[in-house]
Amino acid sequence: MQYNNLGKSGLQVSRLSLGSWLTFGKQIADETAAELMQVAYDNGINFFDNAEIYARGKSEEVMGAILKKKGWARDSYIVSSKAFFGIGGELPTQKGLSRKHLVEACEAALKRFGLDYLDLYYCHRPDKQTPIEETVWTMHQLIMQGKILYWGTSEWSAQEIMEAHMFAKQNHLIGPIVEQPEYNMFVRDKVEVEFSQIYKTVGLGTTTWSPLASGILSGKYNSEFPDGTRLGMEGLEWLKERNLTPERIKAVLALTDLAKELGLSLPVMSLAWCLKNPNVSTVILGASKVPQLQENLKALDAQALLTEEIMNRIEAILDNKPAFPAY
Ligand code: NDP
Repeated sequence: MQYNNLGKSGLQVSRLSLGSWLTFGKQIADETAAELMQVAYDNGINFFDNAEIYARGKSEEVMGAILKKKGWARDSYIVSSKAFFGIGGELPTQKGLSRKHLVEACEAALKRFGLDYLDLYYCHRPDKQTPIEETVWTMHQLIMQGKILYWGTSEWSAQEIMEAHMFAKQNHLIGPIVEQPEYNMFVRDKVEVEFSQIYKTVGLGTTTWSPLASGILSGKYNSEFPDGTRLGMEGLEWLKERNLTPERIKAVLALTDLAKELGLSLPVMSLAWCLKNPNVSTVILGASKVPQLQENLKALDAQALLTEEIMNRIEAILDNKPAFPAY
């Protein structure tokens, strides 16, 4: 495993990590979740990603129970949660980034996990109805109280991240160290262009999500629709519609050929492509089966095969390189 600092913080995170969205407490049995965490941990993965909304709190319960059973040293792993969406309550105080929700959500997450503190706590989306000052103060206070160690954002704009940093700096508070954006061969703008300055200025780290675009970049949707996969799950029609487009499948078919030429599976090549970006601190993997995770772990070694020439060929297939604004 390779490790690097999460942004300019001192937190050393494994370049591959494991997330629980749609799988833990939902799609997969708890035994499978436990096996996935064991394989991840045995291979040096030290970061497990979670959120209050995942399976409406159940994902945190399942992960917490596994951590307890495994008995791994608390200083050997990083565990996260995120607040914003709540766990399903529709009342205005049950979601968002107000002090009230963040404090209550953090307390509830700790209880569900059965942990004394979270290593990383994310603001899962920007909250247009709460002043950023209130959110920054609250995250700082949660750190001071020892309930969280670091905090970050997810799907915030560069402007919102900078606002948080400016306020934190002016008031000697601890600002966010990390952003969690979507990043894969089809979704590139934020990571490759929008954040390009703030990697340098504030030392932003990134924990990127959906590296396989929910499985499209495994190649399994290339012909017939496979049974028992995420995009066939009830209630996820929106995700299927968003991800499974004819343009994407056309690109995936060409990428599949290229991966074959390199002697790699498509998911491994797609993950290695994400890892090649030095501004990606860790690629958060998702897996519904243990062999998927075992395969995906090969992405670390596969980076060496993605030479400049191969990266250019991938670029030509994708034909979606985000442009910097022209002046
Ligand atoms: P991916 O895009 O990699 O999708 C993972 C899914 O793809 C798996 O569950 C599996 O689904 C399929 N898959 C994975 N590997 C293989 C393989 N080798 N062969 C075939 N199929 C494979 O990542 P996720 O969308 O799961 O995102 C990863 C993590 O990122 C999440 O768990 C979560 O922690 C985080 N995240 C954060 C978000 C945010 O807003 N901050 C939003 C979304 C995710 P199946 O077998 O069912 O087809």
